[in-house]
Amino acid sequence: MPPTAAKKKKLKVPASVRKRFEDYIDKKNRKCWTWKGSRTEDGYGQFWLNEGKVVKAHRFAYEIFVRELGPRERLKNICKDKNCMNPECWQPFTIGEPIAMTRVRRKKS
Ligand SMILES: [Zn+2]
Repeated sequence: MPPTAAKKKKLKVPASVRKRFEDYIDKKNRKCWTWKGSRTEDGYGQFWLNEGKVVKAHRFAYEIFVRELGPRERLKNICKDKNCMNPECWQPFTIGEPIAMTRVRRKKS
């Protein structure tokens, strides 16, 4: 676990939002929780947080059930189901520096 991870806390959302979110999760299968809401074109569950904002459902689930994720943290799916909402099936990892930071200036030849 990276040192910064321990400091982070669960994402706080209004109870009404949380309930609306959890209504889309099917926990009948205890190991994997299936997303019943809409999906993005690439097959990930999506959730309308409020009128103007859509979030990736698995990421949102991880943030409210486990802890908030930094802007460079991504989640790797372990159970091979992109629509599984069980945070235990997702493993956080940090991506590299943004491209703009490592860009090398081109010289004219
Ligand atoms: Zn799963």
